[in-house]
Amino acid sequence: MAPKYRPTPLSGGDRKALAKELGKARAMANILAIRSAETRAKGEALIQQADKLLCESWNERMWSDGEPIDPSPTIDQAVNCGFTWLEIQCARCRTPSDVDLAAMKHPPTTFVHDLASRLRCRKCAKAGRRPSATLLQLAWQPRHPRTEA
Ligand SMILES: [Zn+2]
Repeated sequence: MAPKYRPTPLSGGDRKALAKELGKARAMANILAIRSAETRAKGEALIQQADKLLCESWNERMWSDGEPIDPSPTIDQAVNCGFTWLEIQCARCRTPSDVDLAAMKHPPTTFVHDLASRLRCRKCAKAGRRPSATLLQLAWQPRHPRTEA
């Protein structure tokens, strides 16, 4: 982009005043940009904290009662705060497995509870069954060998 055109004032005093104001405005632009970046970083840290609390709340509900699974965090909320694994269990054969949420092909705005009907047990699939998954909890790392399809 071409620099902004500004007619030069005729009087020397006006030219000096303009140069001063331009200098101030340019310095202010930098200060505001830095402040914006700092505030955004604080905001992102708060969002991450909120996501973590949401995941922990869901985990407590899953552990205590196992239901309702809805509402639940979204995939990106879980991944954002480090809960990148979802522990599940096949509702039919009870085989446990871990799902890598970060590697899922579902849109990141998908709710974790919506995965219950979409995750398939490989063992049962071989037997021609398609039972839904029981969701156990969100985790920081996998606990079981991978068997989900
Ligand atoms: Zn199964």
